[in-house]
Amino acid sequence: MNIKEIIKKSNLTIEENNILFDVPMKDYTSFKVGGVADCLVKADNVEAIQEILKIVNKYNLDLNVIGNGSNLLVLDGGIRGITLLIKMDKIKIDEDYQVDVESGVKIGKLANILAQKEISGFEEISGIPGTIGGAVIMNAGAHGKEMKDIVKNVTCIDYNGNIKNFSNSDMNFAYRESILKNNKYIVTSVKLNLEKGNIDEIKEKMNQYRTYRKEHQPLEYPSAGSTFKRGKDFITAKLIDESGLKGYQIGGAQVSEKHAGFIINKGNATAKDILDLIEYVKKTVYEKFNKKIELEIQIMGDSQ
Ligand code: FAD
Repeated sequence: MNIKEIIKKSNLTIEENNILFDVPMKDYTSFKVGGVADCLVKADNVEAIQEILKIVNKYNLDLNVIGNGSNLLVLDGGIRGITLLIKMDKIKIDEDYQVDVESGVKIGKLANILAQKEISGFEEISGIPGTIGGAVIMNAGAHGKEMKDIVKNVTCIDYNGNIKNFSNSDMNFAYRESILKNNKYIVTSVKLNLEKGNIDEIKEKMNQYRTYRKEHQPLEYPSAGSTFKRGKDFITAKLIDESGLKGYQIGGAQVSEKHAGFIINKGNATAKDILDLIEYVKKTVYEKFNKKIELEIQIMGDSQ
């Protein structure tokens, strides 16, 4: 049975327009590359996720979860099974500045709401593209702050449909790592620990960070942010730059001239161009500096 027949037979309560077939993943990723997802389901509540998990288990389907697709390279062969796009977007703010946010909320949107409510502690994170769920999984961070510094509790669903709670210490946060990464859990909501602030100071900080990004990052081109992780004892972008790779291009993929840590899509890159360039950068840096560099971006899907 193919995926369309499975979905039809399953009588899901999910709205029809939230279930799409043969979806070009370039429309759902910031890199703007990638083949077609056989079936993309937009989940705007926990029940929708649980329904999908039931059919994934019943028919032994592949399942991939995405948020805003800002840290993803989807391969040219696309994605089989179900691609679950998390869209749940409720935000609850208590009087004591405890913020309970569903995982599909966009970081920028949350930052603006927190600023209006004079809640501080999120300014450094505010300019990171993506959803709260993706940011927790990746322990995203910027300007000296990471999600681990503000997360109190994470609620997830495991692939059997059970709801689980993880405290900050359960999360095993590390640099761009958490216990949930590639581990068959779907983040549904996150509690953040923030504090009372002042609207003008919050906005001023957010503006400063925004300006810094515009000046230092190639935001004018599609990318997935920093392609590689920072090294333990070296700055990866510096080694790439000192290897003479800024501007180096394979097909439509280029090492950004503005920031050597970013591989950008010059307009018509394939995922293969990007992968080939990644391998070339890794090899060149290793030959020149004897340092192994690791990917930060997540790869999803099939190569052919
Ligand atoms: P996606 O890219 O959709 O997914 C990332 C991973 O999380 C995947 O493995 C996916 O399966 C998983 N995932 C997503 N949502 C869920 C969920 N609800 N449950 C379970 N798994 C889930 N990152 C930084 O840390 N700091 C930066 O300063 C930064 N700057 C960037 C600048 C640019 C221009 C771009 C394009 C990216 C940048 N990034 C940065 C990378 C990216 O924004 C972050 O990693 C972000 O947290 C990804 O969130 P997302 O919703 O887009 O996740």
